Amino acid sequence: MANSEYEYVKREFEFDRRLPPSNWIVVRIDGCHFHSFSKIHAFEKPNDENALRLMDTCATAMLKKFPDIVFAYGVSDEYSKILSLCVSYFTSVYVMKWKESFPDKMLKEPPYFDARAVCYPNLKTIRDYLAWRQVDCHINNQYNTCFWMLVKSGKSKQEAQLSLKGTSSKDKNELLAQQFQMNYDDELAMFRKGSSVYREKVETVVKANIKRTQPILTVAHVDIIGFTTIHSFDKPNDA
Ligand code: ATP
Ligand code: MG
Ligand code: MG
Ligand code: MG
Repeated sequence: MANSEYEYVKREFEFDRRLPPSNWIVVRIDGCHFHSFSKIHAFEKPNDENALRLMDTCATAMLKKFPDIVFAYGVSDEYSKILSLCVSYFTSVYVMKWKESFPDKMLKEPPYFDARAVCYPNLKTIRDYLAWRQVDCHINNQYNTCFWMLVKSGKSKQEAQLSLKGTSSKDKNELLAQQFQMNYDDELAMFRKGSSVYREKVETVVKANIKRTQPILTVAHVDIIGFTTIHSFDKPNDA
């Protein structure tokens, strides 16, 4: 396009979209219309384990592909990442690995994700960002667990919604215990806490007396509040 009369379409319409330096960059990736996508592919409600694991697989592939990503956190159809736009790679891995997660299910429509980049200037705000996502995960999952237990026990969706209206976290735990003999804390940690992906430094013995510390990609379902203060959350290259 160099020097042609059409060059103005680049000069005048393409803006500099560089992110400011010295920030923690979060890329939040979220499935588009997954309410419908999860229905079409008969995801188990409220949590389809295979679908969640497929999201974890995509996140792990991201950390493998892009060394600058230090941490990923995911819940539901959403995955937050510390790096610039990776949504296309994430989507490709999702499609490529679909068969491994769902050997008996055909992919019926192309999955796609939206993504946004947000900059957090220091460790406190990036930690608070992750805490915000995890608190959201807890609130949604506790609600969804109650909602689907009520629906599966014969209530209509509207009735289930009504009986949960205005209930506190404690009320919901009591509802699960009293009506379904269920202890919320016994639910899978993946459902309650979401997924964290990071590199764990593991010491391996190469030969006798020779040890090497290697970063091993790890998926864990842990409390992020507290975790990110202990874990090596090294600051990105400062300017
Ligand atoms: P949007 O395009 O605006 O993001 P959406 O339909 O994807 O719309 P979200 O708020 O992102 O809406 O919610 C994700 C939806 O996908 C929820 O309805 C949730 O129940 C469903 N979903 C995603 N992952 C799973 C899963 N692993 N198991 C069961 N349901 C899932
Ligand atoms: Mg969305
Ligand atoms: Mg979505
Ligand atoms: Mg979502």
